[in-house]
Amino acid sequence: MPDADPAAIRGDLTENVDAAQALTENVDAAQALTEIVGAAHTLTEPDVVGGYAVDWTGRWRGAPLAVVRPADTGQVAAVVTACAAAGVPVVPQGGNTGLVGGAVPVDGSVPLSLRRLDSRGPVDAATRTAAFGAGVPLAEAQRHVAADGWEIGVDLAARDTATIGGLVATNAGGERVIRHGLTRGQVAGIEAVLADGSVVRRMTGLLKDNVGYDLGQLLIGSEGTLGVVTAVRLRVVPAAARRAVALVGCGSVAGAVDVLAGLRPRLDAGPGELVAAEMFVDDGLALVREHTGLGAPLPDPHPAYLLVETTGGPDDALPEALAEALEATEGVRDAVVADEPARRAALWEYRERHTEAVAADGTRRGAPPVKLDVSLPPASLGPVVDDVRGVLSSAYPDAVLYLWGHLAEGNLHLNVLGVDPADERAATDLVLRTVAAAGGSIGAEHGIGRAKVPWVGLSRSPAELAAMRAVKSALDPARLLNPGVLFD
Ligand SMILES: Cc1cc2nc3c(=O)[nH]c(=O)nc-3n(C[C@H](O)[C@H](O)[C@H](O)COP(=O)(O)OP(=O)(O)OC[C@H]3O[C@@H](n4cnc5c(N)ncnc54)[C@H](O)[C@@H]3O)c2cc1C
Repeated sequence: MPDADPAAIRGDLTENVDAAQALTENVDAAQALTEIVGAAHTLTEPDVVGGYAVDWTGRWRGAPLAVVRPADTGQVAAVVTACAAAGVPVVPQGGNTGLVGGAVPVDGSVPLSLRRLDSRGPVDAATRTAAFGAGVPLAEAQRHVAADGWEIGVDLAARDTATIGGLVATNAGGERVIRHGLTRGQVAGIEAVLADGSVVRRMTGLLKDNVGYDLGQLLIGSEGTLGVVTAVRLRVVPAAARRAVALVGCGSVAGAVDVLAGLRPRLDAGPGELVAAEMFVDDGLALVREHTGLGAPLPDPHPAYLLVETTGGPDDALPEALAEALEATEGVRDAVVADEPARRAALWEYRERHTEAVAADGTRRGAPPVKLDVSLPPASLGPVVDDVRGVLSSAYPDAVLYLWGHLAEGNLHLNVLGVDPADERAATDLVLRTVAAAGGSIGAEHGIGRAKVPWVGLSRSPAELAAMRAVKSALDPARLLNPGVLFD
């Protein structure tokens, strides 16, 4: 992406001071925003605004003043400046695939849709980075770099809609963390608009650039509460020439943890690299099959399933190596290995379609699932799953728990259905306290959003929370950027 001239950005801001003034003087707010982004991109009609006002789960919704769709960083800065002048809250929104209500407008706020920031820069082979506008969907960024033989170290099932800005704002994890780390590890530069409308920009891609506080890193995972990410320079890695996927039947969740522990050193010793290790269980698989019509992956059902993917060079004997490693690993009850793209994709579907299958089940039951994304030391996963099932079923006999996750990181997605809406908060409390008591974190990769604000104290000390509030107060003293997210 070409570097924007900061003076030009300031120029845009100056030009839009009138718009800010208009908001301040309580002239029609939508009119003021229209002057910045144009009438076609200031949305107020309820049926158009609706899609921006409710989250992917259907659990969170708000009544925005107007949805604003800026075209570039200058317009983002102008909108933020205008809203700051008028005291109107701004809610950054990317693909709106977040699962914790973080991108949903509070009443009277301006959801700032970043999707029109869709620039894509060339891959710089020297720094192995490429710059993207914040609104580029992950899948498009993946296709863009794949054309030159590269891939991005983050991948997740919401790839067609989740944006690069959203991934950065949530520090998304996904299916490649075991190999490349979280989104934070893929970020080589950020441009963002702060709460006062100023633009901070560090997009050079310099690999060593330590001059004081790293504002870009501070913005990663800040969920739109400290600034609006407008562009990101992402690291890229050489695309794998070959891939092999195995779906493994295991005796239990703890059994899947043991299988992965046994498998990993064997795979490390062979060709290729382990890039994914995912887990799901029998009732979740049954729900996915019912929802999708997919056939059974293995001849017999198993209590738990491990899905692993390895990648390697063109001549690597990946499927053979994977099959041999599985044969030598204790606890493997059955396995199927695929290297042909369609078969690999078919195996991944069993894992990736859990989220939509559970959402559909929620719709059928008349209430969306309570979605809790937690992490635990891998060795505790089995016992904690048993404990969570126990506490839930004794308090709520009709509760149904679907779970799956990213096994190597001990990251579980716990989805609770069948609890009366009046009891959802208490059920959440039970589950999150069980996780925290076992040394886990209440927020693994989806963020805190609005959904988990009451429980942040389970995973952060008073001193940590005070420091976080001080950062928030310093960068957004009027608390206009995504109010209600992270902090109450
Ligand atoms: C089917 C499915 C599978 C998923 N799988 C995973 C997974 O494996 N791993 C994972 O981590 N997540 C996963 N998610 C959750 C979601 O896709 C991620 O949180 C993703 O990073 C959100 O991106 P988005 O563009 O949709 O952001 P949004 O939902 O629009 O926003 C999410 C948060 O980021 C803020 N934000 C968005 N854009 C910006 C910006 N440009 N500047 C500042 N703040 C911004 C919002 O205010 C909000 O707080 C999944 C979701 C679905 C529906």
